[in-house]
Amino acid sequence: MKFAILSKGDSKSDALKQKMMSYMKDFEMIEDTEAPDIVISVGGDGTLLQAFHTYSHRLDDCSFVGIHTGHLGFYADWLPHEVEKLVIAIKNEPMLRIEYPLIETIVRYEQGRETRFLALNEATIKTHNGATLVVDVDIRGQHFERFRGDGLCLSTPSGSTAYNKALGGALMHPSLEAMQMTEIASINNRVFRTVGSPLILPKHHTLHVTPVNKGKFMLTIDHITSEHQGIKSIQYRVADEKIRFARFRPFPFWKRVHDSFIASE
Ligand code: NAP
Repeated sequence: MKFAILSKGDSKSDALKQKMMSYMKDFEMIEDTEAPDIVISVGGDGTLLQAFHTYSHRLDDCSFVGIHTGHLGFYADWLPHEVEKLVIAIKNEPMLRIEYPLIETIVRYEQGRETRFLALNEATIKTHNGATLVVDVDIRGQHFERFRGDGLCLSTPSGSTAYNKALGGALMHPSLEAMQMTEIASINNRVFRTVGSPLILPKHHTLHVTPVNKGKFMLTIDHITSEHQGIKSIQYRVADEKIRFARFRPFPFWKRVHDSFIASE
């Protein structure tokens, strides 16, 4: 078993990473940051997002586990005092893997070039300077609406508890192969109209966003923000790839929702 451990970088997470590393080596597991079979993130959900983007080229070959050193996370659901138990489970127990859907974003530029991104939580589009975003939204090749507002958010099921939730989106169980579009402060009046409700699209539906005006746009893919110019259109769909989490005990999604947002026992 080859492993890699990523820390959030604070002293608590770094210390736990060192402890975990020495346990793993005691159990004759090999540290391999290039080609790990298991990637362990120590910190929070944000750290797991970073781990995902570090190893997104190896999704077929590795599984992820998250340990939280702050509050309970959706991806980071192991506690610091459980690390011995976790190492023993990694060493001795058959690894059960659960898969969560991702979002594929393809940005097509006017010159014909295109760039592809994978998101674990969400992809968003806004203008670069806070001006109103005006875009045409097409679903399955059919014009759906002309959106005016701050932006649009396309969330995965597991990302539905993050930015999507703050935007009034629904929480989606990660076993659903779907993506959710939520509006960020749409303009709605007698002249301009958007649907106003979050949309949940199945895997075989593709959504295109086409800017009405030229300019610079701010795209986010999880925690990563980048500025883009000369965008012709952006295609969003549920990706063919999935992220795999190593599961050594049951921790149902709705229990995590309850413990995170309602009350933890
Ligand atoms: P951050 O701004 O430092 O933290 C955002 C918060 O979102 C953290 O508390 C993080 O948890 C939590 N989080 C991340 N993924 C989550 C998930 N799937 N379900 C529930 N909570 C989640 O940024 P970051 O840590 O680098 O994370 C980037 C994410 O922040 C983006 O993907 C976006 O979803 C989220 N975000 C949220 C808002 C908002 O709610 N208004 C605005 C912008 C971005 P940990 O503390 O455990 O890391």
